[in-house]
Amino acid sequence: MKISDILKNNKVNVSFEVFPPKEWSKIETTKAVVCEMAKSSPAFMSVTYGAAGTTSGFTTEIAAEIKNNGITPLSHLTCLTSSKNKIDTVLNELEENGIENILALRGDIPQGFVFPDEQHFHYAYELVNTIREHGDFCIGGACYPEIHPESANRVEDFQHLKEKVDCGVDFLTTQMFFDNEIFYRFRENCAIKGIDVPLIAGIMPITNANQIKRSVELSGCAFPKKFMKILERFGENPKAMKQAGIIYATEQIIDLMANGQNNIHIYTMNKPDVAESIMKGLSEIINE
Ligand code: FAD
Repeated sequence: MKISDILKNNKVNVSFEVFPPKEWSKIETTKAVVCEMAKSSPAFMSVTYGAAGTTSGFTTEIAAEIKNNGITPLSHLTCLTSSKNKIDTVLNELEENGIENILALRGDIPQGFVFPDEQHFHYAYELVNTIREHGDFCIGGACYPEIHPESANRVEDFQHLKEKVDCGVDFLTTQMFFDNEIFYRFRENCAIKGIDVPLIAGIMPITNANQIKRSVELSGCAFPKKFMKILERFGENPKAMKQAGIIYATEQIIDLMANGQNNIHIYTMNKPDVAESIMKGLSEIINE
């Protein structure tokens, strides 16, 4: 099923995310994670793509496993370090496996990276164009409520986002954020700029103190005072931090829903227990 159709259902749609293993020998472990997560009945499940593209087959394999578990898969695809031929091969592979949904991404620029030749992509909008030309896929894109770290300013970031959406993006998933007010301002600005595809709000449950450094490095996102207080008090106690992180994420989702945000993506990071706890915390709220 196409995610664009799922998002039209006027219900609350909560999706999950898994990442593929780095080695083929661990593929069955990741498949078991998918199987566990599927039991919480997410609206769809996404599977990330290794930035270098060397494990692209793993992403397709996991996407196929998601489908086998009766859940709609969303396959991430980055283009920065891939040739156009390689992208064509991956698109054929996805088609052969009946994967209809792609999150079209550029990927982060590795240190010292030099663009090889004109056969390579520079930005995600070029990948969106290529996917549209290739076949009948539902295409998602990434967006950044706290602006993309490379962007000089918000005006430029929105301009490029609008251009990307106009190339044929069906929905946008946000980078993680921990302060809902930032998301509400972003959502309003999207409406003002005529970016009118569905927005999926990305929520990352922080379940251990080490994750914070990584999250800031990846996204540059701000942590509100309320969150920092939780970290100060419970950061040294793994069990307490995990519980507090799950509750913080659950409260964020409830506030989003109360403010009319029906599409929510949880960065579940291969943790079925975290996904299950959040869904249990929302059991009545989701079906209200
Ligand atoms: P783009 O949309 O191309 O934007 C990148 C930058 O270029 C922005 O600053 C933008 O304003 C600017 N820009 C865009 N077009 C132009 C133009 N025409 N001229 C000048 N500047 C321009 N990474 C992975 O490796 N694997 C994953 O699976 C993965 N999943 C992700 C999922 C989500 C929801 C998000 C938010 C990010 C994900 N990432 C992933 C990270 C992502 O690849 C990086 O954030 C990357 O730096 C930007 O990707 P993008 O698709 O947003 O790029």
